Amino acid sequence: MWMLARWLFLGALCSDLSFAVQEPACGSCKDRGVVACRLCASKACASERPFLHCSVAQGCGDCGGVRWLECASCLKAPEIDVAAQRAELVSWRESTRPVDEFLGRRDLLHLDTAHFRLAFDLKRSPLKAASGPHEAAHRLLDLCERSWSEFAADSGVRTEDLAGVTQLFVWGSEKDQERASSKWTLERSKSVAKLMGGAPVISLCHGKGRVRNESDLERELVHQLAHCLMSCVYKSVWLGGKKAGWIDEGYAHFCELRRMGSVEVWCSLSETTLGKLEPWKFESEVARRAAAGEVLELSAISGLDTVALSLEQRLFAWSYVDCVVRAHTGSLGLLVRTLQQEKPTSEAIQIALNVSLADFQRDWATWAGATYSVRRR
Ligand SMILES: [Zn+2]
Ligand SMILES: [Zn+2]
Ligand SMILES: [Zn+2]
Ligand SMILES: [Zn+2]
Repeated sequence: MWMLARWLFLGALCSDLSFAVQEPACGSCKDRGVVACRLCASKACASERPFLHCSVAQGCGDCGGVRWLECASCLKAPEIDVAAQRAELVSWRESTRPVDEFLGRRDLLHLDTAHFRLAFDLKRSPLKAASGPHEAAHRLLDLCERSWSEFAADSGVRTEDLAGVTQLFVWGSEKDQERASSKWTLERSKSVAKLMGGAPVISLCHGKGRVRNESDLERELVHQLAHCLMSCVYKSVWLGGKKAGWIDEGYAHFCELRRMGSVEVWCSLSETTLGKLEPWKFESEVARRAAAGEVLELSAISGLDTVALSLEQRLFAWSYVDCVVRAHTGSLGLLVRTLQQEKPTSEAIQIALNVSLADFQRDWATWAGATYSVRRR
């Protein structure tokens, strides 16, 4: 009797197991209701960081960029809502049309991520590591997302603190750059132009002016994105126009020096002004001047707009921002937020760093003395 019960139990178990390993009814989709698009299988987009939409991927005649198709061999409910995804892609593509229409173009590459939109018009890759323009566009937005991650880490700012995404244009022709910069940055420029605030824009021409190679391109993006991101958070106030140019330009220099190892972008300083002065190696120059007692104190530069800052003032603005980010970790975001409320720098330092301006100046001297070397960059 016991043997029979055991035999019956094992029999029931086996029939359950045979049910569990049953072959899927549909050999095409394995009962998922969707199959991967074969045309797209060998053409992956090259982003290393997450991206949202790519106009090249959407060019696929079979899937429209969804990369999945509903299974044609069965009636299983699809695991992925292919139709909804396709509709979302079409509506995103519609949102890029004003750019195409303004320039009378149908061949611009559009790509976006959580923080950036890119319209890209180079026929050859400007980056050595990318084989063509499509791959290069993805790599460029990777670089921009890296700038966002660094800004978020420096300041504690979150995506929801941004008023909008930053629109980037990369042109191959000066004519397009001039037209696009006039329209979207409100500043006609043959090389680089930007608009700051809640919907920032950077438009640049690659191959001309000061953006001639890969390193120029990355440098320009890193520097200008620092301005754009800082102007786009919280109340979307560009501090460079609110007598807090020291933090606006200082942070842009800080980002450029950290990524590129040197500073070469000088917003709103004319070539003739620069031509008369020797651009320095920042750390060693601050160290040398501090040792010689030639310090420009923060109180002396904190009431100026970015356009009014001299080369020397920019040098020290960089160093004060360097000290805020590295020696007062986590305070940059509150400092920016307080300055955007049009509080003077002395009050904003007190609120965000919990020290008086005089104490900050003294702490800076100690920190810079221990951190900077006359032999460093
Ligand atoms: Zn199927
Ligand atoms: Zn792509
Ligand atoms: Zn496809
Ligand atoms: Zn700048």
